[in-house]
Amino acid sequence: MFLIAVSIFINIRYPLPTNIDYSQIILSSDSTVIHSYLNRGDKWRMKTELHEITPLLRKAIVFKEDRFFYYHGGINYLAVVRALFNNIISGKRTSGASTITMQVARLLEPKERTYINKIIEMYRAIQLENKYSKDEILQMYLNLVPYGGNIEGVKAASVLYFEKAPNHLSLAELTALSIIPNRPNSLVVGKDNAEIVKQRNKWLKRFLKAKLFPKQQIEDAINEPLNAYRHESPKYAPQYCYRIKQQSPKLPIIHTHLDYKKQRKVQKIVENYIKILYNQNIKNAAALIIDNRTNSVVTYVGSADFYNTEDAGQVDGITAIRSPGSTLKPLVYANGFDKGIITPKIKITDVPVNFSGYEPSNYDDKFHGYITVEYALINSLNITAVKVLSQVGIKNFINTLKRMNFEQISEDEDKLGLSVILGGCGVSLEQLTKMYHAFANKGKFTELNWLTKDTIMGGFNIISPESAYMLTEILSKVKRPDLPTEWQNSADLPKVAWKTGTSYGRKDAWSIGYNKNYTIGVWVGNFSSEGVQDMSGATTASPLLFEIFNTIDYRSEAEWYDVPEDVKFRLVCSETGLPPNSFCKNITTDAYIPLISTSEICNHLQTVYVSPDSSIAYCQGCLPKNSYIKALYPNLPAEMITYYKLNQIKFDTIPAHNPKCEVVFSLNKPAITSPVNNVRYYVDRTDSTEIMLTCNATNDVSKVFWYINDKFVESCKPTHKVFVKPKSGRMKISCTDDKGRNSNIYINVEMIDF
Ligand SMILES: [Zn+2]
Ligand SMILES: [Zn+2]
Repeated sequence: MFLIAVSIFINIRYPLPTNIDYSQIILSSDSTVIHSYLNRGDKWRMKTELHEITPLLRKAIVFKEDRFFYYHGGINYLAVVRALFNNIISGKRTSGASTITMQVARLLEPKERTYINKIIEMYRAIQLENKYSKDEILQMYLNLVPYGGNIEGVKAASVLYFEKAPNHLSLAELTALSIIPNRPNSLVVGKDNAEIVKQRNKWLKRFLKAKLFPKQQIEDAINEPLNAYRHESPKYAPQYCYRIKQQSPKLPIIHTHLDYKKQRKVQKIVENYIKILYNQNIKNAAALIIDNRTNSVVTYVGSADFYNTEDAGQVDGITAIRSPGSTLKPLVYANGFDKGIITPKIKITDVPVNFSGYEPSNYDDKFHGYITVEYALINSLNITAVKVLSQVGIKNFINTLKRMNFEQISEDEDKLGLSVILGGCGVSLEQLTKMYHAFANKGKFTELNWLTKDTIMGGFNIISPESAYMLTEILSKVKRPDLPTEWQNSADLPKVAWKTGTSYGRKDAWSIGYNKNYTIGVWVGNFSSEGVQDMSGATTASPLLFEIFNTIDYRSEAEWYDVPEDVKFRLVCSETGLPPNSFCKNITTDAYIPLISTSEICNHLQTVYVSPDSSIAYCQGCLPKNSYIKALYPNLPAEMITYYKLNQIKFDTIPAHNPKCEVVFSLNKPAITSPVNNVRYYVDRTDSTEIMLTCNATNDVSKVFWYINDKFVESCKPTHKVFVKPKSGRMKISCTDDKGRNSNIYINVEMIDF
């Protein structure tokens, strides 16, 4: 009873110092050490895991160090007595009698070799045996023994001498390692290999004699050359590992989802790719790969060459905030599908338009008139994207981005306008790739799994599965302008859905793509933000994207996306993309979402009452009792008429309205499109800035009359632009058409001395 109390007291008073200071290691999905950091004592002491101690390693170590390890309680008394006897006889202290457990005690608390300390060591050994299993004690031993230089423990030794994990060591290798702790200073790996082999084979022969392993295995080991030297500590995926380390600074072993082989391959591809572009002044690139089935990050290439300080290789291109160019556009069209505003084949107008003072233009400065949503997206047209965004609502759109943690966008929310869809905002490659991962994942957004212990599977829909399907169908079309020339007609073109982007000033080239297996985001550019004339998402980023796809997922067997239950197909008029009317002749098929997509019937033509010679149009109000006919005319919005007229495109015009009609004069007045009503203008007094007046008028108008503060200014064609000098104060601007219909707007002008 008393002894138990004493032992409990000592245990509490002198607890085991088992807090081992490991050097942190980061492991890839196949448990390769991809990065390691020195421990606080500047040593390489990587933690060996239990499963890495194979029966082969265990047997060899136990045989060599402590044959009765599994039978004693920490102390081999027989050996102690023998050693004591030997010491007395020889008059000097020889080693021996130390069990593996006692060695662990000594390694935990290194002390001078005195009899007193030996007794403390024995006590510690008993403590250890009470607290830990034999396997754990062996594990501690293997983690603490010195292997020369600043290498401690078998894991660090096998990684730094053989570039492998302990469980992959051959019998010859592990035996060679096991003799180093006996003479770490005279058996230096790489320098004394011949001597190490000699000592190794001595032990192997003992193993043979004791029949520890099969004869053939030992004989092979004896003949195995020793090819070991001190390697650099592993430093793959540096930006990734830095990030992982920041997240878990204390864990000795961090198991990640990073795929070692893919990482090295993709890093090499990116590096070589930039070597080729370097002459064109394109000096960096980044690539992120997400496994769509596990939502995990499998490849993370932060820059072309981390060790290139001249081109800021240390910057992490995956988290850097850049302008997205056109890469956000797919989201706005997807939002449009979900709101029922558009379907892939619905026609929208790509013509000059003014959104409260904002006039976007296209990349090629051309306008394309009537085009399908599909065409607008794969040709990455700007005006249509802005138009759909204005219909979806900028606030809704930004909220969706905020839900996906686009941090810079959240921060700048109040400053952002419609130009956000053309790249007027800040995003990271990671955020964009996560957004496309949601497209690949039936519209479901999730955070990513970085460590093997992360198990994020759920997520929430940012777009519906139906919308994601329609988007994917459009983005996987190969007939498009941003398919790089070298991949056109290539049998190796991977089947992917992708979108490119080029930021303003050609500072960033993006290409982000996905199939069922992977989502890959690629950025190419300069960390200095230097623009390059020849750089674009299509020509600079997509070739790299396709190369990566073919490398990691060549001719993927994975089948393509199935049509979701709620996507149906319908016949539509190809003039408008809407369900056909009786007069629609050209019919095509389109995907739609029942009860969501607009069910408006095509009205690409309108019935107009005209005189038999088609020279006068009538309305219900002025229709003569007889002598009229019903005729079909194109039903065009004012902006399209303006566009046709400006580009001298012929179209069927409705005849001028009955001049005797009184009804129509109150309707269809000209709409002033510039300037914008109630806008405040600040004008430099010394400057000669003029204000532009433009309007949209119906196609029966051939002339309009402009007035400022009720004073006549000019008469001209409705499509003509008129310029006037601003006057200080409130200005009334009026536009009257040749039918006498009139519109007014007001602006405020302030003269400023700059
Ligand atoms: Zn039609
Ligand atoms: Zn009329």
